[in-house]
Amino acid sequence: WTQIPGDGRAGANSRALFNAAQFVIPGGVNSPVRAFKAVGGDPPFIRAARGPYLLTEDGVTLVDYVGTWGPAILGHAHPEVVDAVCRAARDGLSFGACTAGEVEFAELLCRLVPALKGGMVRLVSSGTEATMSALRLARGFTGRSKIVKVDGGYHGHADFLLVAAGSGAATLGIPGSEGVPAATVADTLTVPFNSAAAVEQVLEQHRGQVAAVIVEPVPGNMGCVPPRPGYLQELRDLCTREGVVLVFDEVMTGFRVALGGAGQRYGVIPDLVCLGKIVGGGMPVGAYGGRRDIMQHVAPLGPVYQAGTLSGNPVAVAAGLATLQILARDDPYAALEATSAALAAGLSARAAKAGVPVVMNRVGAMFTGFFRAGEVHDYDDAKASDLGAFAEFHREMLTCGVYLAPSQFEASFVSLAHDAAAIDHTLSAAEAAFAAVAR
Ligand code: PLP
Repeated sequence: WTQIPGDGRAGANSRALFNAAQFVIPGGVNSPVRAFKAVGGDPPFIRAARGPYLLTEDGVTLVDYVGTWGPAILGHAHPEVVDAVCRAARDGLSFGACTAGEVEFAELLCRLVPALKGGMVRLVSSGTEATMSALRLARGFTGRSKIVKVDGGYHGHADFLLVAAGSGAATLGIPGSEGVPAATVADTLTVPFNSAAAVEQVLEQHRGQVAAVIVEPVPGNMGCVPPRPGYLQELRDLCTREGVVLVFDEVMTGFRVALGGAGQRYGVIPDLVCLGKIVGGGMPVGAYGGRRDIMQHVAPLGPVYQAGTLSGNPVAVAAGLATLQILARDDPYAALEATSAALAAGLSARAAKAGVPVVMNRVGAMFTGFFRAGEVHDYDDAKASDLGAFAEFHREMLTCGVYLAPSQFEASFVSLAHDAAAIDHTLSAAEAAFAAVAR
């Protein structure tokens, strides 16, 4: 198919599929953000993906910055990964038993991720399972029940983490979804991102009761927000002082902001780390692990139960293993940084030229342009963005053949397959899109 991007708005085929989907799938989607509610219009349906491009069911090519929400760091359908998956599939799709591949994978993870060095790791099938299991473990290990999370931080859809509490001082959890009993989130405390003082206050207020502080070291689910210098180390010090398990949710940042994730990039080692997305190379894989003395509490070694029929699935492990082996072999992070920096600078320049206020936040190959003036350090800052302007920009970009995450509160991802042609196309599309927003 052609690599010349076209108008990606839902055409006749996508619209017909979406109509059919809405009858048999709630909202027509299997994950809410795919419905394009925040930007309007129907979503294009995707038939195939290769390199930095998507092919829609309307036969249109798009430059993709969603990258299947993070995993596609090598670009789509990387031949070595696809070969590894096909080889594994021919030997059987699932055994529910021990395999050599999962040992090799776990050993590689323990070599690459600083928090896993000298520790242990358990494979699961999604990021949600990774965070849910890590926090059960933290509670089992400490014998405490309270969890501290960041306002606007997303850690999957486990009941007790679906908390949309107010920012400012720590707030007792209020369920962020119907169907979550108040009692389930009563032990979930929230604090604003980038304020170690807020965490300190909560830990003092609930001394001896907090099992874990969980944080995305670079949040991507309020849009991309870098940690202030020293913030992560302050969290580390506070947790050590108070006997609290520090959990980095690196489902998004793992293998993205550095080979060893944010822990490596910022030189701060949590007690437990949660992985997802890139770790499965596009297949359903998650993982949690860290300190050996904590991981020894996981069943069957210890009393904290956690299990999975498809955990360590051989086909999924083959995809993850091939992906991480390529990243470890090629060490492409300097190139990825350069491409991402050039793209972000180009987008900022075009916004400025059109007179549209945009704050460009970027860490490595993840970025968000917030449609506002001033800086974005936490969820409150992110929420002060002009959502109407973002939605218009998104629609214009899609019209010009560029597929961005359909929400202001998401990060976009650059892959190793984004070459000069893809970046150039993106920047000329952005020039037109910012001009449309300015009108
Ligand atoms: N944690 C973070 C930081 C995420 O970004 C996500 C998903 O976007 C999750 C956890 C949940 O992962 P999954 O969707 O694989 O359950």
